[in-house]
Amino acid sequence: MKEEILELRKSFELDLRNVDSLNTLNDLRINYLGKKSKIQEFSEALRDLSNDDKREIGKYINDTKNFMESSLNVLRTNLELKELNNKLSNEKIDVTLPGTKINVGSIHPITKTINEIEDLFISMGYDVLEGPEVESDLYNFEMLNLPKGHPARDTQDSFYITEEMLLRTQTSPVQVRTMLANTDKTPIRIICPGKTYRKDNDDATHSHQFSQIEGLVIDENISLAHLKGTLEVFAKKMFGDEREIRFRPSYFPFTEPSIEVDISCFNCGGKGCSLCKGTGWIEILGAGMVHPNVLKMSGYDSKKYSGFAFGMGPERIAMLKYGITDIRNFYTSDLRFLNQFDRVEKEWYHESKW
Ligand SMILES: [Zn+2]
Repeated sequence: MKEEILELRKSFELDLRNVDSLNTLNDLRINYLGKKSKIQEFSEALRDLSNDDKREIGKYINDTKNFMESSLNVLRTNLELKELNNKLSNEKIDVTLPGTKINVGSIHPITKTINEIEDLFISMGYDVLEGPEVESDLYNFEMLNLPKGHPARDTQDSFYITEEMLLRTQTSPVQVRTMLANTDKTPIRIICPGKTYRKDNDDATHSHQFSQIEGLVIDENISLAHLKGTLEVFAKKMFGDEREIRFRPSYFPFTEPSIEVDISCFNCGGKGCSLCKGTGWIEILGAGMVHPNVLKMSGYDSKKYSGFAFGMGPERIAMLKYGITDIRNFYTSDLRFLNQFDRVEKEWYHESKW
């Protein structure tokens, strides 16, 4: 029997050399160590042997079993390592290949313009406030010195929800709300950005929905000089250090005196070009000293307090800054238009303190 076991061991060693995968290794294990294997038969045959032979052959069988088991285990470890290496080299990533392009959105040019204006005014100590877009007639008009039937309403009002509620035509009601909430608390220094709605017919320079940023300052001894200084800082920051501003008399119901503000043309430096229609000046916003009636209606003593207000359109400012000729481009969500601001946006992103 001993010789037969030796033969078995030899044939095992031969077969072991031909194993090249975990599957064939498993077959070999079943063959040589399974329930129906030769070695099992030898173990069973031990019963018929004498006690001495039992001890001797039994030990021999056990040694052979142990040998086969440890050989199989060593080979298994090697094969597993080999398979892992194969897998790793097959799945190797070539880091020099170009990656998949991920489409990341960019900030809309209007939002970008509003952000810039907000940053500037925040740096001058202003708060940024927002208000509802569905507004009462009282706050949108009456408290701003535009009583019912006032002719200046005709240029604006359109989207009524009820007799007394409408889509706001300006962000000025946020000023009214702020004054009412802070009566006798000064100074007030706010800007109010937001969407507004008017019955304008849509064309290259008009839209029934557009953005506005209004500003309001109320304190004792506020004068037109403060307004001029503030707007000069604004013009230089948005359109370059060389910019000058000029005031032209105008009319708004809620300011007295009222002015239109022009900046010197950034395209021609004031010499005259097609952008400024040969005048050297570009109209940029409306402003004025808060009308005493508006102060009184919101609970401020107009003899003690004064203030200035201004209102501008981020669309117009963005159009001037980026040379956009049709306001409708802002609202059509056309990626060919919006993608052009990616680069501008990224530069801005890196410069800002985000
Ligand atoms: Zn010009």
